[in-house]
Amino acid sequence: MKIGFIGLGIMGKPMVRNLLKAGHEVVVYDIIKKNVEISVSDGARAAESSKAIAEECNLIITMLPNSPHVKTVVMGENGVLEGAKPGTILVDMSSIAPLVSQEVEKACAEKGVKMLDAPVSGGEPKAIDGTLSIMVGGDKAVFDEVYDVLMCMGSSVVLCGDIGAGNTTKLANQVIVALNIAAVSEAFMLSTMAKVDPLKVFDAIRGGLAGSTVMDAKVPMITEGNFKPGFKIDLHIKDLNNALETGHSVGAPLPLTAVVMEMLQNLHASGCGQDDHSAIAKFYEKLSGVKIRK
Ligand code: NAD
Repeated sequence: MKIGFIGLGIMGKPMVRNLLKAGHEVVVYDIIKKNVEISVSDGARAAESSKAIAEECNLIITMLPNSPHVKTVVMGENGVLEGAKPGTILVDMSSIAPLVSQEVEKACAEKGVKMLDAPVSGGEPKAIDGTLSIMVGGDKAVFDEVYDVLMCMGSSVVLCGDIGAGNTTKLANQVIVALNIAAVSEAFMLSTMAKVDPLKVFDAIRGGLAGSTVMDAKVPMITEGNFKPGFKIDLHIKDLNNALETGHSVGAPLPLTAVVMEMLQNLHASGCGQDDHSAIAKFYEKLSGVKIRK
């Protein structure tokens, strides 16, 4: 199948590589030339614009930073909808606001283009391995048409509901991860200041009810003071912003999300926006003047 892929950043490049490995022909576009060159050296072909991609591909995948980028690429000048034929399928794998997924789907439907939202969890390592968790919203028949292609990039592909449901699921994921990192930071600051070695606490509790994938991944980073991303504070601000906006629009109470959002905003303002989100621990370190270390 000839696939168009737009957005060749940290996630997009390895996802394209896995589509090529599975034998698909892939045509790519990004506003950053260097990213296009890397995908071309992996075996993809370059196109001049999102419109040009849509003119020649009947399956288009987008992997862009946030809602405004998706609207520009799909609905803007020289965008997908200027070139797409009726029957084309658009799979937006970016993490964006669910309401924007619905808005973009409506514009697509007016041109006869079918759309799914399909954000991912797992980060760059799982994008490289092709083992992303992919959460999808949209029509079941369209989902069935693209399932095999999505499985080239992920190990789990789940249809969660109608259009926007993929991004709502992703927001739930991002709320749990952010609050979990804050809880881990708070608990390990307590043990450090009470003079109990945080690594002993980690060993003792990681197999019990408090244990989590977040604890396993982030405690070693926090106790080493290693905040190299991974997933950046600024991207998590974007996701919690989308979660709060969605929560307000449906009337869901998100008090803990609002508190952790303030921690992230404080970290952004103090120059940590490009750190890994495990740097939420730095917020506690600033409050106490103590570092979470052995
Ligand atoms: P990124 O910033 O590395 O890549 C985004 C790419 O989109 C860039 O190459 C950029 O040039 C391109 N782009 C922006 N505007 C464009 C336009 N108008 N036309 C064409 N290309 C354009 O971001 P990323 O880390 O690859 O993340 C992509 C999405 O996946 C985000 O929504 C992010 O939240 C989500 N995500 C990221 C991770 C992660 O660990 N990085 C994990 C899960 C989900």
